[in-house]
Formats: sequence, structure tokens, C-alpha cells
Amino acid sequence: MHKRQLLIGMSILLGILWVSCSGDTTRTASSQAKVNTQTDAKPSPIADPELQIMEENPYESLLTLDFILGRFDPREHPQFSKIPQEHTDKVGIMMHTDALAAYEQMTAAATAAGHKLVIRSAARNFDYQRSIWEAKWSGKRILSSGINAATDISDPALRAKEIMKYSAMPGASRHHWGTDIDLNAFDNAYFESGSGKLIYQWLLTNANDYGYYLVYTAKGEQRPTGYEEEKWHWTYKPISKYLTAFAREQLRDTTLTHFSGSDTAPQLNVVEDYVLGIAHDCH
Ligand SMILES: [Zn+2]
Repeated sequence: MHKRQLLIGMSILLGILWVSCSGDTTRTASSQAKVNTQTDAKPSPIADPELQIMEENPYESLLTLDFILGRFDPREHPQFSKIPQEHTDKVGIMMHTDALAAYEQMTAAATAAGHKLVIRSAARNFDYQRSIWEAKWSGKRILSSGINAATDISDPALRAKEIMKYSAMPGASRHHWGTDIDLNAFDNAYFESGSGKLIYQWLLTNANDYGYYLVYTAKGEQRPTGYEEEKWHWTYKPISKYLTAFAREQLRDTTLTHFSGSDTAPQLNVVEDYVLGIAHDCH
């Protein structure tokens, strides 16, 4: 009797264990299925490119309105460096240190291939951009089209729009960021024949390998709005992509103030059409 009772007891216990285990298995499988369903329906934060930018951005400290508006002195910014004289025809101009390091590798490769790159302009802060803008606004400086903006165009929005064929409003220039440079000549024709054409072709083939991208490609279906084509203006995308994303989130037309004609910015849709009117692969 004793043995039989023990056997019955063990059978009951095993039965309970089996039910319990299979119950657990079912629950585990169903909760796994739930997790999978959730994963399919909503990507995890790691898969979200925007969150990924926030998590991995090594240039987080640059993401302030003051920085993208150029309200700082590039000569005193801890992440900026003076461009060595061998690379530029200007004296004492600055750019972001990491963009400069990549540029130095690129220009060494260009030189080895027989091409001479020259940085004509790099970081320009708000005050510098305002001096360019207001010289054009007031007619002290004639536009490249030969137009005197002050005497030839009385409507403020039309005047601003004409200046913005090639010049950014203060606060809206990528040159504030230290990531963008102008190479060799402020003239598309230079890059369409002779050594200029060979340099342009070399850059189109090789610059991306060093992180540099052409920003103001030809206007058309790919880039319907913004400044006219500038074959000289290149950006160091590993940094500027974060600043472009930040500008999209934070910069508003009404943030552009403190210069002549600034109140035309909302009417001209400056942030959307100009600041973000860049080549698709610069985003
Ligand atoms: Zn430029």
C-alpha cells in the first residue's frame, strides 16, 4: 500500500509539473509572438534613423541656435582651427578641425593627381555674413548679375530674393558652421573648361570619399528651390548632416533677425526653400 500510494503521489506530481511546464511554454511562446508583432509594427529606437542621430552624434555640443546662426567668433571656438596658409589665398580663415583634417587628406590626393585646390572662403560668422548682405542690400556692392539691389529693386522681398541667388541671409548660411568651403573660383564657368573642369571632375569622383559633398547642384527636379548652382561650394557631411537636421527642427524664418530686410524671411520661406534647398545627398 505504501509503495502504491507513493507511485500515485509521484504520478500526480509529474502531471502537475507537465501541465505547469507546458503552460509556461505556451505563455513564453505567446509573449514572444507579442514582442515580434510589436517589433514588426513599430521599429525599435535603434532602427529609427533620427533617434540614432541623437544617440550617436559626436557633435552634439554644436547643436544650438547660436551656433547654427553663426553667433560666435570662429577664432575662439574650441572645435575650430586656422586653415594653414598653403591651402588658402585668404589670411587667418577658420574651419571645423575635423573638416580641415579630412580636407587635408583630400587636397593631398588631389595634388598627387595633379590638381591644385584652393580654399577661397570657409567659416563666416553672422557679423561677417551681415556685412556681405548689407553691402548688397544697400547697393554698396553690385550683385554679380550687374544689378544694384538698392536702386534697381524697390520691393524688399524681391530685393532679398535677388541677393539670395548667391548670398545667404545672415543666420541662414552654411558657412556659419565651419563645415562648408568654397574652392578655387566663385564662377561656374571656371569649372566648365580647362584645369577647372578637370578639378571639378576629380572632385565629383573623389570628394565623397573624404566626406565632402556638393551642396548647390544644378536647379531642377532634384533641387527645385534655393540658391543657384555653385560648383565651388562643398560641405563636410559627417558634421553638417547633424546641423542640417537641427536646422530643420529648430530654425524658423522668424529666427532670422537683426539685419536689413530680415522681415522678408517668412515671405520668402528662407528655411524651407534655401537652408534646406540643398542636394539630396547632403541631408
Ligand atoms: Zn559657399
